[in-house]
Amino acid sequence: MSLVSNAVARLRDQRVDEGIKPLQARGWRAPRCGACRVIESHCLCAWRPSVETRSGVCLIMTNKEVFKPSNTGWLIADVVRDNHAFIWSRTDVNEQLLALLNDPQWQPYLVFPGEYVEPSRVTHTVDLAQGKRPLFILLDATWTEARKMFRKSPYFDRLPILSLLPDKLSRYRLRRSTRSEHLCTAEVAALCLELAGDSDAASALDAYFDVFSQHYLGAKRQQEVDVSTPAHAELLPFVRSAQELLA
Ligand SMILES: [Zn+2]
Repeated sequence: MSLVSNAVARLRDQRVDEGIKPLQARGWRAPRCGACRVIESHCLCAWRPSVETRSGVCLIMTNKEVFKPSNTGWLIADVVRDNHAFIWSRTDVNEQLLALLNDPQWQPYLVFPGEYVEPSRVTHTVDLAQGKRPLFILLDATWTEARKMFRKSPYFDRLPILSLLPDKLSRYRLRRSTRSEHLCTAEVAALCLELAGDSDAASALDAYFDVFSQHYLGAKRQQEVDVSTPAHAELLPFVRSAQELLA
């Protein structure tokens, strides 16, 4: 049983119930863990962190993304207790999404690169009005899809755009020695959590993402799980069942 209700896992299960099947990628015949979706021998469940967060997240996804074994929105939903996920549609507006955006406890920010938005909407900091909690809306899709979501969702037009500054991004890349040019959704979320002062959740998510990548690639390359890596050590303080993992 999971401690956190994972909205991405729920979306996937709904899709499956509706008869939508994931494309079976080649070379992935081994059974997957139903809870963490990693190949069973490399199951991640024991490593799920448990942290308190003031922030909430809302993932806007495509059908395809929900089924991708490499999707990292899933990891965010494992870490941030107040997590929401919706399938984007150009024609149907999800009433629950609108209700969430209008929920007075939240102060929503749409996370998107500022250079594509009129400057008056862009902010680089999280400044909360009294009694509000930040809600980060993340477009969990390819860049092409994310741009389309951004342009064709009128209900996002009134939201401020949280744009991560280049120097913040490059410092983050340096710190984590990330080689890829684009950050994945989990890394972007970790930066947002840090901006909002949710430092524990940011650290836990970064370490969880690294551990996930190691388990995922290990399974792909048919290598045994190595839990003695620095990423596992970083994640350990945030894992509730740490005692058992060390025993
Ligand atoms: Zn698992």
